[in-house]
Amino acid sequence: MTTPRKRVLSGMQPSGLLHLGNYLGALENWKGLQNEFECFFFVADWHALSTNYADTSRIREFARELLIDWLAAGIDPAKATVFVQSRVPEHAILHLLLSMIIPVAWLERNPTYKEKQEQLKERDLGTYGFLGYPVLQAADILIYKPDFVPVGKDQLPHLELTRELARRFNSLYKPVFPEPMEQLTKFPKVLGTDGRKMSKSYSKTMVTDPARVRRQDPGNPDLCPVYDFHKIFSLPMIQEQINTECRTAAIGCIDCKKLVADRVVQRMTPMWDARARLSKDPAHLNDIVTEGSRRAGEVAKATLHDVNGAMKI
Ligand code: SF4
Repeated sequence: MTTPRKRVLSGMQPSGLLHLGNYLGALENWKGLQNEFECFFFVADWHALSTNYADTSRIREFARELLIDWLAAGIDPAKATVFVQSRVPEHAILHLLLSMIIPVAWLERNPTYKEKQEQLKERDLGTYGFLGYPVLQAADILIYKPDFVPVGKDQLPHLELTRELARRFNSLYKPVFPEPMEQLTKFPKVLGTDGRKMSKSYSKTMVTDPARVRRQDPGNPDLCPVYDFHKIFSLPMIQEQINTECRTAAIGCIDCKKLVADRVVQRMTPMWDARARLSKDPAHLNDIVTEGSRRAGEVAKATLHDVNGAMKI
């Protein structure tokens, strides 16, 4: 008998166009995961409403672009279940049920609640949906009973809240939800560069070590955002060479940036080409989402059945 594969759940909000940092941080990780685990990857379009409810004009477009990016980057719908949150209404039902049991204080102490309100001062985020989005997030996760969830360090408090909510549900009624573990993403964060538009000309605008003002000044790669790109895109040999030559001013920033920009373009070109092909075939995209949402819905329905049984409703 074969042991079932462990299950992984991850999503992204369609609140803007993907940039290179997302591609490297999340999608490279997802590509590895889909070969090893049973993966559910979803577009969290309802989440985008929590901060963009006043202007929903581009959510559908962003959702579509996000899916195209995933597929172009190598997410394979034959291996992973790729779907859109709003096509699986069970997420909303579980959100409602969990909202009955979560203490408001848990939401108010959420560190990102106040932070994000500060950052997005121009929007009125005094809404129930914004306060409660960690409950929706918990529902998104728990409904698939995943073994683990890939997260960045900044999202750990949210996952902890999901686990607390699972424990509360399990102790109030009966054990339904396993507590999902985190899988920390291993790629370093790079600047918010739009991967779609990145080209050789972009290298001219990249910021370097601020202390290196003149060509003959030695630099410090540890303080330079360009070197972060080298760490991801360049061969170890080149990284070492730049590390040394930067510190002795043997290489200038212009040449250094050109080297990395060439590597980025080389690596991203297949993705850009795949994007162009996928963009021309909306029917194919729709088929993928329909099938993925159907598969996700089957799992979500089974969990909801257990939840209703435990709650005797
Ligand atoms: S040489 Fe390269 S690593 Fe050094 S400061 Fe310039 S751009 Fe950054």
